[in-house]
Amino acid sequence: MDNELKQKIAAVAAAATEKGCQILENEPLSKYTTFKIGGNADLMIEVENVSSIAALYAMCTAENVPSFVIGNGSNLLVSDDGYSGVVFKLGGDFKNIVPVDEYRVKCGAALSLAKLCKYASDHSLSGLEFAWGIPGTVGGAAYMNAGAYNGEMKKVIESVSYISPSGEAGTLSNPEMKFSYRHSRFVDVPGIITSVTFRLKRDSKENIRERMDDYMNRRRTKQPLEYPSAGSVFKRPKDNFAGGLIQECGLKGKQIGGAQVSEKHAGFIINKGGATCKDVCELVEFIQETVLREKGIKLECEIKRI
Ligand code: FAD
Repeated sequence: MDNELKQKIAAVAAAATEKGCQILENEPLSKYTTFKIGGNADLMIEVENVSSIAALYAMCTAENVPSFVIGNGSNLLVSDDGYSGVVFKLGGDFKNIVPVDEYRVKCGAALSLAKLCKYASDHSLSGLEFAWGIPGTVGGAAYMNAGAYNGEMKKVIESVSYISPSGEAGTLSNPEMKFSYRHSRFVDVPGIITSVTFRLKRDSKENIRERMDDYMNRRRTKQPLEYPSAGSVFKRPKDNFAGGLIQECGLKGKQIGGAQVSEKHAGFIINKGGATCKDVCELVEFIQETVLREKGIKLECEIKRI
């Protein structure tokens, strides 16, 4: 890291400490990703409220200090060299969940989807059953437009509140979020999601629970949940399935270093132990080249590289 960046990061750390945020220097990101991969971040700041994130994010922008927000790290592949800059981890107020009316709930971006789904089912609110078992946060799921079993965030999000890089607060409606397959506006335009309002439907707790159990059972049967991973590595190609194509190319079990194409679900790369980011990247490239050569289809990555 150059000296100038080092000094700027130290200034952000000092400002964060003054605001009562916890700071962690040279923090291994492997602790925060479901892949259990990733080198150290120069600085991680745990932020508990909107005013602190607005001030610190604006400071990073003004000082040209690279920054990003990490949710549950369940869709991330972080470099073995780590991250030169500031990683924001949201906590405190960002884990709140508040009923708005009979159909709507407002949640902080750091709330886990597991807690949200449990809250919804306990309150006879339907629409989020698909998200039961997706190991992300509300913010990460809105950013990714996470989805499964014919459901997606796009269908249940009413609005999203965020902080812009200059520290201003704003709210976007569902159409303004420009949701599409595993994509939202925030993939193209930087910003930190602070809270999300969901609009759900009423149904009986029993019906909701039944659907959640069904989806969870399907996950447990088909996905290699016993190993660290970042879920499906590739986006679904048009009229096809990445896992099916990879399997047809005979790549199940293919291993580079500690990274392996899961024997259980070829769409997943798993960390068999000690996998590095380099191992995963090489395996991703190998899969892409093989599928392109044998099937004529270019697989696009769903996981985000940092
Ligand atoms: P992270 O992985 O931490 O971050 C993902 C991206 O979102 C990053 O670019 C990050 O900077 C950004 N981000 C996170 N929080 C914010 C915020 N507050 N503001 C702005 N940007 C933010 N995904 C599916 O869609 N469907 C599935 O069925 C599914 N199954 C999975 C199963 C397993 C076993 C695993 C490991 C993953 C699975 N995933 C699935 C992938 C992943 O769980 C989702 O993409 C999830 O929504 C990511 O949320 P996260 O909080 O972990 O985000």
